Amino acid sequence: MAGGLGTRLKDKTVTMPKGFIGIGDLPMVEWSVQKLFAAGIEEVIIGTGHCDEWYQRLAEQYPCITLFKNEHYAETGSMGTLACCVPGVKGDFLLLESDLIYDAAGLSVLINEPHPNVLLASGPTQSGDEVYLEADTAGNFKKHSKNRALIGDLAGELVGITRLTRDTLDKMAAYMKAHLADEPKMEYETAMAAVSQSGDANRIFIRKLEYYLWREVDDENHLAMAKLIYPRIKEAESLRAIRREVLLNPGPATTSDSVKYAQVCPDICPRESEFGDVMEWIGRELSLMAGKPGHVETVLFGGSGTAADEVMISSCIPDSGKLLIVDNGAYGARFAKIAGVYELNFEVFKSSGFLPLDIEALKAKLINGKFTHFAMVYHETTTGLLNPVPELCHFCHEHNITTIIDAVSAFAAIPIDMDTDHIDFMASTSNKNIQGMAGVAFVFCRKEALEKLKDYPMRNYYLNLWDQYQYFQKTRQTRFTPPVQTLYALRQAIIEIKLETIEKRYARYSACWEELLAGVKKMGLKMLVPPEAQSKLITAIIDPPSPAYNFEALHDLARTHGFTIYPGKLSDANTFRIADIGDIRPEEMARFVKVLENYMGSLK
Ligand SMILES: *Cc1c(COP(=O)(O)O)cnc(C)c1O
Repeated sequence: MAGGLGTRLKDKTVTMPKGFIGIGDLPMVEWSVQKLFAAGIEEVIIGTGHCDEWYQRLAEQYPCITLFKNEHYAETGSMGTLACCVPGVKGDFLLLESDLIYDAAGLSVLINEPHPNVLLASGPTQSGDEVYLEADTAGNFKKHSKNRALIGDLAGELVGITRLTRDTLDKMAAYMKAHLADEPKMEYETAMAAVSQSGDANRIFIRKLEYYLWREVDDENHLAMAKLIYPRIKEAESLRAIRREVLLNPGPATTSDSVKYAQVCPDICPRESEFGDVMEWIGRELSLMAGKPGHVETVLFGGSGTAADEVMISSCIPDSGKLLIVDNGAYGARFAKIAGVYELNFEVFKSSGFLPLDIEALKAKLINGKFTHFAMVYHETTTGLLNPVPELCHFCHEHNITTIIDAVSAFAAIPIDMDTDHIDFMASTSNKNIQGMAGVAFVFCRKEALEKLKDYPMRNYYLNLWDQYQYFQKTRQTRFTPPVQTLYALRQAIIEIKLETIEKRYARYSACWEELLAGVKKMGLKMLVPPEAQSKLITAIIDPPSPAYNFEALHDLARTHGFTIYPGKLSDANTFRIADIGDIRPEEMARFVKVLENYMGSLK
């Protein structure tokens, strides 16, 4: 709720909404928005009014913010602004003030509460502006007042963070409408109290945290208090931080703490419809990242990225089909191994692991060999070589050849549109650029290509694409136990990539790569792949010529500084590999480069 004039802060809020007052290094409202997304909130709706252009700029920065403006903000109270937001509310939600600073623990407490409607209260704040709360005998919100004498037994002080159902919101809006004439400036607490006492379905439970750290900022005095409490909130939140390990191996990638914490959730049977909602949401959001709305279906399996590769190779080729596989690295070779296990009719187009493909030769082979299916790795993680997938898939499309792409280490960094790129089937996984936990494999399917699979032979059971797809369509369940907690982490990872966007994520990865590149050049090290053919996601560096060089020693040294690195994977070149995917920042790559420099210095 951010519609108010904030008149008690006078000069600070004449041309700026209250929420933009900075405490620490961010405006209060931005701090709050970040905490909400980190707590698993999918969308933030801001009810604006006074100086709403500030919020328009905020919404440009955070793609998951929607704004609703209360045109009558000067003549209405907070309930008027809340009522303007009703059309945007899709389900349960948290209701907050824009001018709060608070410990994020309050959000998880409300999300965890078994009561559908919960109001957060604290012990005494001595703020001088307390809103006192009274509960009924069952602990539900009954009355509030700034005048302590009007409140019976004190149930706590109102914080200004509440969890509500859509139904309760509708009742509050109806209450406001019925009382508009007598109370045009109604605050939403008034509607909440009335609705809470109107019947069981909408009662609002008061959850009191005696020592909760928070402040609302309504005047200069509050602002001074908020600045004192801010470092205490920071400290309390830092106690929940998890020791940072920067993974520079090519997946599993470094994850944010919010992704790690998303796995800690109530036990749930994955056959409950609530969990069906979670999987459906994940599938829908992933599909939107891979193609145009309605064109792509995402099918989820419990398994690593190789499971998704095996799903595609075993499910997407009819007995009459003939498959050409490009092998220019370990993952292309893996495709061929899988095709061999299933005894498919296939051939391999072998190419150098570090030089760009001979595209014309490959096209000629596709035509002359009368291939019906084509499989290739988008980004060969073996060396960091980026293959020209759109060009080749375009060619295949013109010649009616079905395309099967391993985009395990490309998806969610390299922009991909399966429609315009003509990719029919594509594999990825939860633990690479999407920055989730290991354990969910996904196969993206263009709808028309997917429909053809229903007549194809079922060559295996667990990894069958059509069966898994059909079953989920019918039941909103996976056929077998899904990795429940990993899916919750994936849900959080998707929230975070929607906020960052794929373009900006690739820009961040590229900035990390630039740091590495500069260091490598400075140290006189050589890279296996020419920079123009590199993905900028992983770099294979040729072992230093010094006889004193030892990968294990370098690995162990890096580990003591919180970095994990990975050996090379080619038989014909001695390399080590540095990936720059995951929740990592350019400053961290710069620190790693220093470690590498120190090690290189020790060799001489
Ligand atoms: C990581 C990766 C895989 C999957 O490997 P898993 O060990 O099964 O997770 C497949 N293909 C490519 C290109 C990869 O980078």
